[in-house]
Amino acid sequence: MDFEILQPGLEVINHIAALKVSLRSARLAQQKIALVPTMGALHSGHVSLVKKAQELADIVVCSIFVNPTQFTDPKDLEKYPRPLEHDIRMLEHAGCDFVFMPSVTEMYPEPENWHIDLGPAEFLLEGEFRKGHYQGVTQIVKKLFDAVNPDLAFFGQKDYQQVLMIKNMVNYFHLPVELVSCPIIREEDGLAMSSRNIHLTGEERIQALVLSRSLYYIRDHFGETKIAELLENARKLVRGTPGVELDYLTIADGDTLLPVDEESGKSGLVALIAAKVGETRLIDNIILN
Ligand code: AMP
Repeated sequence: MDFEILQPGLEVINHIAALKVSLRSARLAQQKIALVPTMGALHSGHVSLVKKAQELADIVVCSIFVNPTQFTDPKDLEKYPRPLEHDIRMLEHAGCDFVFMPSVTEMYPEPENWHIDLGPAEFLLEGEFRKGHYQGVTQIVKKLFDAVNPDLAFFGQKDYQQVLMIKNMVNYFHLPVELVSCPIIREEDGLAMSSRNIHLTGEERIQALVLSRSLYYIRDHFGETKIAELLENARKLVRGTPGVELDYLTIADGDTLLPVDEESGKSGLVALIAAKVGETRLIDNIILN
Protein backbone atom coordinates (compact mmCIF):
# COMPACT_ATOMS: atom_id res chain seq x y z
CA MET A 1 0.00 0.00 0.00
CA ASP A 2 1.31 3.45 -0.94
CA PHE A 3 1.39 6.24 1.57
CA GLU A 4 1.38 9.79 0.39
CA ILE A 5 4.16 11.74 2.07
CA LEU A 6 2.67 14.99 3.24
CA GLN A 7 4.90 18.03 2.99
CA PRO A 8 4.22 20.28 5.97
CA GLY A 9 4.62 23.33 3.67
CA LEU A 10 5.96 26.78 4.11
CA GLU A 11 4.19 29.17 6.47
CA VAL A 12 4.44 32.86 5.59
CA ILE A 13 4.45 35.15 8.63
CA ASN A 14 4.52 38.95 8.70
CA HIS A 15 4.29 39.79 12.40
CA ILE A 16 6.65 39.14 15.30
CA ALA A 17 3.82 38.14 17.66
CA ALA A 18 2.49 35.54 15.19
CA LEU A 19 5.98 34.20 14.64
CA LYS A 20 6.49 33.72 18.38
CA VAL A 21 3.17 31.86 18.62
CA SER A 22 4.06 29.62 15.67
CA LEU A 23 7.44 28.73 17.14
CA ARG A 24 6.11 28.07 20.63
CA SER A 25 5.25 24.39 20.11
CA ALA A 26 8.64 23.69 18.51
CA ARG A 27 10.35 25.30 21.46
CA LEU A 28 8.24 23.37 23.99
CA ALA A 29 9.16 20.16 22.17
CA GLN A 30 12.82 21.25 22.55
CA GLN A 31 13.30 21.29 18.82
CA LYS A 32 16.29 23.21 17.52
CA ILE A 33 15.30 26.38 15.69
CA ALA A 34 17.51 27.87 12.96
CA LEU A 35 17.34 31.35 11.47
CA VAL A 36 18.60 32.28 8.01
CA PRO A 37 18.42 36.07 7.67
CA THR A 38 18.23 37.40 4.11
CA MET A 39 17.16 40.45 2.15
CA GLY A 40 15.42 38.30 -0.45
CA ALA A 41 16.01 38.05 -4.20
CA LEU A 42 17.03 34.55 -3.28
CA HIS A 43 19.54 32.46 -5.22
CA SER A 44 21.37 29.18 -4.67
CA GLY A 45 23.70 30.86 -2.14
CA HIS A 46 20.74 31.57 0.13
CA VAL A 47 19.33 28.09 -0.46
CA SER A 48 22.66 26.56 0.60
CA LEU A 49 22.23 28.30 3.96
CA VAL A 50 18.70 26.91 4.30
CA LYS A 51 19.97 23.41 3.44
CA LYS A 52 22.78 23.63 6.00
CA ALA A 53 20.25 24.88 8.56
CA GLN A 54 18.02 21.87 7.83
CA GLU A 55 20.96 19.58 8.51
CA LEU A 56 21.69 21.07 11.90
CA ALA A 57 18.26 22.10 13.18
CA ASP A 58 14.66 20.82 13.31
CA ILE A 59 12.86 23.99 12.27
CA VAL A 60 14.16 26.54 9.77
CA VAL A 61 13.00 30.14 9.66
CA CYS A 62 14.18 32.26 6.75
CA SER A 63 13.65 35.98 7.09
CA ILE A 64 13.29 38.30 4.14
CA PHE A 65 13.66 41.94 5.03
CA VAL A 66 15.37 44.70 3.09
CA ASN A 67 16.74 46.57 6.07
CA PRO A 68 16.81 50.32 5.47
CA THR A 69 19.23 51.11 8.32
CA GLN A 70 22.12 49.25 6.69
CA PHE A 71 21.94 51.10 3.37
CA THR A 72 24.20 54.08 2.99
CA ASP A 73 23.04 54.84 -0.54
CA PRO A 74 19.28 55.55 -0.82
CA LYS A 75 19.38 54.65 -4.54
CA ASP A 76 20.79 51.21 -3.67
CA LEU A 77 17.91 50.69 -1.20
CA GLU A 78 15.32 51.82 -3.71
CA LYS A 79 16.53 49.59 -6.51
CA TYR A 80 17.17 46.52 -4.32
CA PRO A 81 15.30 43.66 -6.05
CA ARG A 82 12.17 42.36 -4.28
CA PRO A 83 10.82 39.34 -6.23
CA LEU A 84 8.67 38.05 -3.36
CA GLU A 85 6.71 35.38 -5.21
CA HIS A 86 9.88 33.92 -6.66
CA ASP A 87 11.45 33.91 -3.19
CA ILE A 88 8.50 32.11 -1.61
CA ARG A 89 8.56 29.49 -4.34
CA MET A 90 12.28 28.94 -3.79
CA LEU A 91 11.82 28.50 -0.06
CA GLU A 92 8.88 26.15 -0.59
CA HIS A 93 11.01 24.10 -2.92
CA ALA A 94 13.87 24.07 -0.42
CA GLY A 95 11.49 22.71 2.23
CA CYS A 96 11.89 25.71 4.54
CA ASP A 97 9.37 25.76 7.43
CA PHE A 98 8.71 29.46 7.95
CA VAL A 99 9.39 32.64 6.03
CA PHE A 100 9.27 35.79 8.11
CA MET A 101 8.57 38.85 5.96
CA PRO A 102 7.90 41.82 8.22
CA SER A 103 7.16 45.37 7.12
CA VAL A 104 9.52 48.22 7.96
CA THR A 105 7.10 49.49 10.63
CA GLU A 106 6.93 46.03 12.19
CA MET A 107 10.70 46.04 12.69
CA TYR A 108 11.02 49.77 13.38
CA PRO A 109 7.77 51.00 15.00
CA GLU A 110 9.64 54.17 15.83
CA PRO A 111 13.06 55.55 14.90
CA GLU A 112 15.82 54.06 16.99
CA ASN A 113 19.34 55.14 17.66
CA TRP A 114 21.50 52.07 17.73
CA HIS A 115 25.17 52.21 18.41
CA ILE A 116 27.26 49.45 19.90
CA ASP A 117 30.98 48.80 20.04
CA LEU A 118 31.76 46.33 17.25
CA GLY A 119 35.52 46.68 17.59
CA PRO A 120 38.02 48.37 15.29
CA ALA A 121 37.27 46.11 12.29
CA GLU A 122 33.91 47.90 11.94
CA PHE A 123 35.64 50.81 10.26
CA LEU A 124 37.79 48.85 7.82
CA LEU A 125 36.99 47.68 4.27
CA GLU A 126 33.18 47.71 3.85
CA GLY A 127 32.93 49.88 6.97
CA GLU A 128 35.13 52.48 5.36
CA PHE A 129 33.13 52.58 2.13
CA ARG A 130 29.69 52.19 3.73
CA LYS A 131 29.69 54.33 6.86
CA GLY A 132 27.41 52.97 9.58
CA HIS A 133 26.63 49.84 7.56
CA TYR A 134 27.49 47.37 10.33
CA GLN A 135 25.54 49.30 12.95
CA GLY A 136 22.50 48.81 10.70
CA VAL A 137 23.31 45.16 10.04
CA THR A 138 23.78 44.27 13.70
CA GLN A 139 20.69 46.29 14.64
CA ILE A 140 18.41 44.25 12.37
CA VAL A 141 20.08 40.91 13.17
CA LYS A 142 19.58 41.59 16.90
CA LYS A 143 15.90 42.36 16.24
CA LEU A 144 15.53 39.15 14.22
CA PHE A 145 17.26 37.18 16.98
CA ASP A 146 14.82 38.70 19.49
CA ALA A 147 11.87 37.74 17.29
CA VAL A 148 12.96 34.17 16.54
CA ASN A 149 15.17 33.32 19.51
CA PRO A 150 17.10 30.84 17.34
CA ASP A 151 19.47 28.16 18.60
CA LEU A 152 21.52 28.55 15.43
CA ALA A 153 21.86 31.30 12.83
CA PHE A 154 23.36 30.87 9.37
CA PHE A 155 25.38 33.43 7.43
CA GLY A 156 27.44 33.31 4.24
CA GLN A 157 31.20 33.71 4.11
CA LYS A 158 30.42 35.82 1.05
CA ASP A 159 29.92 38.67 3.54
CA TYR A 160 33.05 37.83 5.50
CA GLN A 161 33.23 41.05 7.51
CA GLN A 162 29.52 40.81 8.30
CA VAL A 163 30.03 37.43 9.99
CA LEU A 164 32.79 38.96 12.15
CA MET A 165 30.61 41.92 13.10
CA ILE A 166 27.66 39.69 14.00
CA LYS A 167 29.99 37.53 16.10
CA ASN A 168 31.07 40.68 17.94
CA MET A 169 27.44 41.75 18.43
CA VAL A 170 26.56 38.29 19.82
CA ASN A 171 29.49 38.51 22.24
CA TYR A 172 28.55 42.08 23.19
CA PHE A 173 25.05 40.98 24.31
CA HIS A 174 26.09 37.44 25.41
CA LEU A 175 23.41 35.98 23.15
CA PRO A 176 22.82 32.22 23.39
CA VAL A 177 22.95 31.59 19.64
CA GLU A 178 25.45 29.57 17.63
CA LEU A 179 26.61 31.24 14.43
CA VAL A 180 27.35 29.07 11.43
CA SER A 181 29.34 30.49 8.52
CA CYS A 182 28.68 28.77 5.17
CA PRO A 183 30.89 28.63 2.05
CA ILE A 184 30.47 30.99 -0.90
CA ILE A 185 28.31 29.59 -3.70
CA ARG A 186 29.50 30.64 -7.14
CA GLU A 187 28.25 30.52 -10.69
CA GLU A 188 30.08 27.97 -12.85
CA ASP A 189 32.43 30.66 -14.16
CA GLY A 190 33.41 31.77 -10.66
CA LEU A 191 31.20 34.81 -10.09
CA ALA A 192 30.01 34.80 -6.48
CA MET A 193 26.22 34.64 -6.43
CA SER A 194 24.65 37.87 -5.27
CA SER A 195 21.19 39.42 -5.41
CA ARG A 196 22.85 42.43 -7.01
CA ASN A 197 24.13 40.41 -10.01
CA ILE A 198 20.69 40.88 -11.55
CA HIS A 199 21.61 44.54 -12.21
CA LEU A 200 24.62 43.60 -14.39
CA THR A 201 24.31 43.98 -18.14
CA GLY A 202 25.68 41.17 -20.34
CA GLU A 203 28.97 43.01 -20.76
CA GLU A 204 29.26 43.88 -17.06
CA ARG A 205 28.53 40.27 -16.14
CA ILE A 206 31.71 39.31 -18.03
CA GLN A 207 33.71 42.21 -16.57
CA ALA A 208 32.59 41.17 -13.06
CA LEU A 209 34.50 37.90 -13.43
CA VAL A 210 37.68 39.82 -12.68
CA LEU A 211 36.73 39.84 -8.98
CA SER A 212 36.90 36.06 -8.57
CA ARG A 213 39.79 35.81 -11.06
CA SER A 214 41.93 38.20 -9.03
CA LEU A 215 41.17 36.21 -5.87
CA TYR A 216 42.00 32.92 -7.61
CA TYR A 217 45.26 34.46 -8.84
CA ILE A 218 46.16 35.33 -5.24
CA ARG A 219 45.15 31.89 -3.96
CA ASP A 220 47.07 30.08 -6.68
CA HIS A 221 50.31 32.03 -6.15
CA PHE A 222 50.06 32.45 -2.40
CA GLY A 223 53.19 31.21 -0.63
CA GLU A 224 55.37 31.34 -3.72
CA THR A 225 55.03 35.05 -4.53
CA LYS A 226 55.47 37.89 -2.02
CA ILE A 227 52.24 39.39 -0.68
CA ALA A 228 53.07 42.89 -1.94
CA GLU A 229 53.70 41.53 -5.44
CA LEU A 230 50.59 39.36 -5.35
CA LEU A 231 48.48 42.39 -4.50
CA GLU A 232 50.15 44.58 -7.09
CA ASN A 233 49.53 42.04 -9.85
CA ALA A 234 45.96 41.28 -8.76
CA ARG A 235 45.11 44.98 -8.51
CA LYS A 236 46.59 45.54 -11.96
CA LEU A 237 44.34 42.80 -13.31
CA VAL A 238 41.26 44.51 -11.83
CA ARG A 239 42.24 48.06 -12.79
CA GLY A 240 42.99 46.88 -16.32
CA THR A 241 39.40 45.71 -16.78
CA PRO A 242 37.20 48.33 -18.44
CA GLY A 243 34.06 49.28 -16.52
CA VAL A 244 35.47 48.06 -13.19
CA GLU A 245 36.35 50.49 -10.43
CA LEU A 246 38.27 48.96 -7.54
CA ASP A 247 37.40 50.02 -3.98
CA TYR A 248 39.83 47.66 -2.26
CA LEU A 249 41.71 44.43 -2.75
CA THR A 250 43.60 43.31 0.31
CA ILE A 251 45.11 40.33 2.07
CA ALA A 252 44.10 40.59 5.69
CA ASP A 253 44.21 38.83 9.01
CA GLY A 254 40.97 36.84 9.11
CA ASP A 255 40.15 38.01 12.65
CA THR A 256 41.20 41.65 12.69
CA LEU A 257 40.89 42.39 8.95
CA LEU A 258 44.11 44.37 9.23
CA PRO A 259 46.37 44.08 6.19
CA VAL A 260 49.22 41.61 6.60
CA ASP A 261 52.74 41.70 5.28
CA GLU A 262 55.36 39.05 4.58
CA GLU A 263 56.99 39.32 7.98
CA SER A 264 53.86 38.59 10.00
CA GLY A 265 53.98 34.91 8.89
CA LYS A 266 50.42 34.55 10.15
CA SER A 267 47.90 31.89 9.29
CA GLY A 268 44.17 32.51 8.94
CA LEU A 269 44.48 35.00 6.12
CA VAL A 270 41.75 36.09 3.75
CA ALA A 271 41.86 38.03 0.48
CA LEU A 272 38.94 40.44 0.11
CA ILE A 273 37.80 42.55 -2.80
CA ALA A 274 35.13 45.16 -3.48
CA ALA A 275 34.61 46.85 -6.83
CA LYS A 276 31.97 48.67 -8.77
CA VAL A 277 31.08 47.08 -12.07
CA GLY A 278 29.16 49.75 -13.93
CA GLU A 279 26.72 50.99 -11.29
CA THR A 280 26.71 47.75 -9.29
CA ARG A 281 28.99 47.32 -6.29
CA LEU A 282 30.14 43.73 -5.73
CA ILE A 283 32.21 42.04 -3.03
CA ASP A 284 34.00 38.71 -2.87
CA ASN A 285 36.67 36.97 -0.82
CA ILE A 286 38.71 33.81 -0.51
CA ILE A 287 40.28 32.15 2.54
CA LEU A 288 43.99 31.55 1.94
CA ASN A 289 45.39 29.34 4.68
P1 AMP B 1 21.68 38.94 1.59
O1 AMP B 1 20.30 38.56 1.16
O2 AMP B 1 22.55 39.41 0.50
O3 AMP B 1 21.65 39.84 2.79
O4 AMP B 1 22.33 37.59 2.09
C1 AMP B 1 21.73 36.79 3.06
C2 AMP B 1 22.72 35.75 3.52
O5 AMP B 1 23.08 34.95 2.40
C3 AMP B 1 24.01 36.37 4.06
O6 AMP B 1 24.43 35.64 5.19
C4 AMP B 1 24.95 36.23 2.90
O7 AMP B 1 26.30 36.16 3.29
C5 AMP B 1 24.49 34.91 2.31
N1 AMP B 1 24.92 34.82 0.92
C6 AMP B 1 24.77 35.77 -0.05
N2 AMP B 1 25.34 35.37 -1.20
C7 AMP B 1 25.88 34.14 -0.95
C8 AMP B 1 26.62 33.20 -1.72
N3 AMP B 1 26.94 33.45 -3.00
N4 AMP B 1 27.01 32.05 -1.14
C9 AMP B 1 26.70 31.79 0.16
N5 AMP B 1 26.01 32.63 0.95
C10 AMP B 1 25.60 33.79 0.41
